[in-house]
Amino acid sequence: MERFYFDTSATYPLRESAYHAMVPWLQDICGNSGSTHAYGQTAKNALEQYRRVISELLGCFPDELVFTSGGTESCQLAVRGVMSALKPDQRWVSSSVAEHPAVTRTAKLCDYWQYHQLDITSIAAPILNQIPHGGLLCVMAANNEVGTLSDLDLAKNAALQSSSLLFVDAVQTTGSIPIQLDQSGIDLMAASAHKFGGPLGIGLLYIRRGTSFVSPSTGGGQEAGRRSGTVNLPGIAGMTAALSESLCDRESKNQRLTVMRNRLKDNLSQIDGLLITGAPINRLPGHISCVLDGVSADIALAALDAVGICAGSGSACSSGLGIPSAVHMALGLTATQALGALRFSYGDYLSDKQFECALTTIQGTLSRLATLR
Ligand code: PLP
Repeated sequence: MERFYFDTSATYPLRESAYHAMVPWLQDICGNSGSTHAYGQTAKNALEQYRRVISELLGCFPDELVFTSGGTESCQLAVRGVMSALKPDQRWVSSSVAEHPAVTRTAKLCDYWQYHQLDITSIAAPILNQIPHGGLLCVMAANNEVGTLSDLDLAKNAALQSSSLLFVDAVQTTGSIPIQLDQSGIDLMAASAHKFGGPLGIGLLYIRRGTSFVSPSTGGGQEAGRRSGTVNLPGIAGMTAALSESLCDRESKNQRLTVMRNRLKDNLSQIDGLLITGAPINRLPGHISCVLDGVSADIALAALDAVGICAGSGSACSSGLGIPSAVHMALGLTATQALGALRFSYGDYLSDKQFECALTTIQGTLSRLATLR
């Protein structure tokens, strides 16, 4: 049985270019970029070269990039680093329930700051006019569960009006939605390599020059004191290659993924009791989400897996917990509907033929489940 991978929002298959970029660092001695001998200096030069390439791809200065272990660490570092730097009366973190737990759970720890939860009427247009003065506004570029893109101009203006710093969790958009950071109004941004075809366990945090930031990361003081720990050079090599490949020809790739998404949406919409979730247009190109009323996601995913479709149930980290997601509840779904949340996410590795075959299988399986309710 051929398997079709529809879970790129959880993790994207490793791109061949990323694999080849990593191999030399895994085969030969990969020096520590902090060592003064030849291997160390080779590693250091390569590290700075990768940093330069990524900075050109994201439109920022190389020294504004800090390499981390992934999206979760980047989000934690952003919140904690800014809170440590602000004056006590400005230590506010504002975010909505739509944010990833890497942000909300860190923000709600409230070690020595205050947390302000934003209401949302829809994820695309959060109510941003009651943000406390100063502090940090956290907005995700795209929601991992329902694929909706946030209005980053709205977020930028809200941050400006409230004199807040703007942190954008771009884990779901980096590599698929191009960005020019120096013109974005964003102060900090998180990205994670395994979401765009790089290896697991490597990510980055962009910190705009001049941003108030005192790192909570104690240790050897790598990454200009902003993130301690020996850098993961093979991972950075893989991340650089994956980002270059994913951003190459992005417009035509996104057009194709959007055509596929619309086909999938049209087919799913014909199923009795199926409701498409998230924004209809302003959404990730290779992402569609839905709920099948009265059928739990666990049952639907097992049925799909049995016929070779590997899909997800909204959020990879909370799947299997049996708790309706806060995002789906905030969108106005009932708890039963929210427990049936499904997510199909895919990338340019799928051929047209594979996609057509998968489409028929997905529609057939979910239609059959709908009649059994
Ligand atoms: N932020 C968002 C929006 C995500 O979707 C994820 C992972 O799914 C993360 C942060 C955490 O990223 P990582 O898995 O690299 O820790």
